[in-house]
Amino acid sequence: MQSFKLAIAAVLCLSAFGATAQEKVLNLYSARHYQTDEALYSNFTKQTGIKINRIEAGENELLERLRNEGANSPADVFLTVDAARLAKADELQMFQPVKSSVLEARIPAHMRTADWYAFSQRARIIVYNKSTVKTADVQNYEDLANPKLKGKVCVRSGSHPYNLSLGAALVEHLGEQKTEAWARGMVANFARAPKGGDTDQIKAVAAGECGVALANSYYLARMMRSEKPADQQVVAQLGVVWPNQKTTGTHVNISGAGVMKTAPNKANAIKFLEYLASDQAQVYFADGNNEWPVVASVKTSNPALEKLGKFKADTINVGKLAKNQATVQKIYDRAGWK
Ligand code: FE
Repeated sequence: MQSFKLAIAAVLCLSAFGATAQEKVLNLYSARHYQTDEALYSNFTKQTGIKINRIEAGENELLERLRNEGANSPADVFLTVDAARLAKADELQMFQPVKSSVLEARIPAHMRTADWYAFSQRARIIVYNKSTVKTADVQNYEDLANPKLKGKVCVRSGSHPYNLSLGAALVEHLGEQKTEAWARGMVANFARAPKGGDTDQIKAVAAGECGVALANSYYLARMMRSEKPADQQVVAQLGVVWPNQKTTGTHVNISGAGVMKTAPNKANAIKFLEYLASDQAQVYFADGNNEWPVVASVKTSNPALEKLGKFKADTINVGKLAKNQATVQKIYDRAGWK
């Protein structure tokens, strides 16, 4: 009898908790974790009274968790980096379309799809060793496939989302055949088999092991802002190019988020996305990882990005980057870009 009463009490407690959760909670699965995040999230709670339950993990881990949880997932919003990963979640039909006049007004059309939105952007840039490579030889992504650069090119794995998204843009601009020829040319120019992350490529360029590499802008910005003498020495060796300024513009990738199809707190989820597009949140979100906001009117003051200056960005729709992923992976496989 005693235990029966306890069980009823427990059920009552749970349902009371459930009722509050409906109104004042947001369950956020996030693959981003930076210093400015605390302010980013606490301001949302301050403005709306909605408490954020955050589950933070690596990108692939979170996606796997969402897959396993399926319809029972408590997740309201999935926030992650790279169009390829958002595309994966979208392909698995995890998101629901969001209609929001706030998001439509704030986020440029090429930075959103029907199911998810970009909230910050990063560029895939060319870094080269100033004493071994000429600036004129590395102005475009296409140049890295030129036999002139034989034995000089370093880049991370061809199955990494950053390179898949770049390839997806190239497929859109050049077509599949030319993209494959490009990938083959890159592989023929490799200084070494792909290994490590973008920072490792940057360091290898500075050390002279490679002449030129591709890297996301925030890795370079992070090193430029570092006070470690070793990082400063690396940066001093490097030349930096915004690729394809005379053609399609520099390839830009994103961090973004969508509302889960099974979101228990859908209204809160939409409020959260709208908050991420606000002036203040845009600054926190971009600054946290040395990125640029997607809302055009929002300015950050980041000394490294200011030093790198302005550039023409490719304005291909982020959904197109997503769509071409599988095609690009096959192209890279055939080209031997492991
Ligand atoms: Fe990264």
